[in-house]
Amino acid sequence: MRRLFPMLLCSLSIFAQTPEAGTLPDRWPTGGPNCMEMQEYYIHEYNPNFYILRQSGCTDYEKPFLYLIFGSDRALLWDTGSRNSRVREAVDRLMDRWLKANKRTGIPLVVVHSHKHGDHIAGDAQFADRPDTTLVKPDLASVTAFFGFQNWPEQNATLDLGGRALDLVPIPGHTDDSFALYDRRTAVLLTGDTVYPGRLYVNAPEFETFRKSIHRLAAFIDGKPVAQVLGNHIEQTRTPFVDYPTGTKYQPEEHELALGASHIFELDRVLQGMTTPAVVKLRDLTISVRTPQPRRPQ
Ligand SMILES: [Zn+2]
Repeated sequence: MRRLFPMLLCSLSIFAQTPEAGTLPDRWPTGGPNCMEMQEYYIHEYNPNFYILRQSGCTDYEKPFLYLIFGSDRALLWDTGSRNSRVREAVDRLMDRWLKANKRTGIPLVVVHSHKHGDHIAGDAQFADRPDTTLVKPDLASVTAFFGFQNWPEQNATLDLGGRALDLVPIPGHTDDSFALYDRRTAVLLTGDTVYPGRLYVNAPEFETFRKSIHRLAAFIDGKPVAQVLGNHIEQTRTPFVDYPTGTKYQPEEHELALGASHIFELDRVLQGMTTPAVVKLRDLTISVRTPQPRRPQ
């Protein structure tokens, strides 16, 4: 009996670490091909406290993904979408449904951004006057102040939504304010535009910053459960090494949204082996280094 006890404790701790399950669709609507539908957002319940919203390609070819995560004290919205969408309406409808299902009358909302690019912040103005809502401005100073990042980008921060701890991992490179979010409850890692099945854009002068960020992200997930790595876009097709051209709205044969920890380890390994910034196509994503063009003299 005495010998069994430690074994029991051990199996209990493994059970406690098992991530809360969720499901993803085999395919996402992208909007189209003729864009006669009215829907601006497609909503998927990953599980009853974790939702994924995808903006229709009929409103904007970027068709980004947004995420809404509920804790017991507050909800967190990751990004506000690209142009031409009534994102507030979609989020409000979804939150009303959650409140009803949980027999509650209200829950505070925190709006944060994976990074500051226009295709992820376009809906911010719609949340400016929303009651019980904190909108964290999409700039590095506001992000570090809100989350209490010390020594960005070397140290992570945590945010508790109420029985739901999130780890925030700085990953500058795509932009100076990019960070990843790891939800300990589901073991889902949100990676914004830094890692997704598509073109990972990084300007050549930021390449070293990007490389270090991926290395830090790989170190962070090493040894942790990772159920899904979910980014902000899909640009890859289901055919290895082939992506859709920029601006494609209708993508019936697009790659699945989820990547896994192995993609981050692969990306890290490839980046560590590169001596100069370059475009590198991998099976499920492309390192898309861009060289900013010098301005012509006036
Ligand atoms: Zn983007």
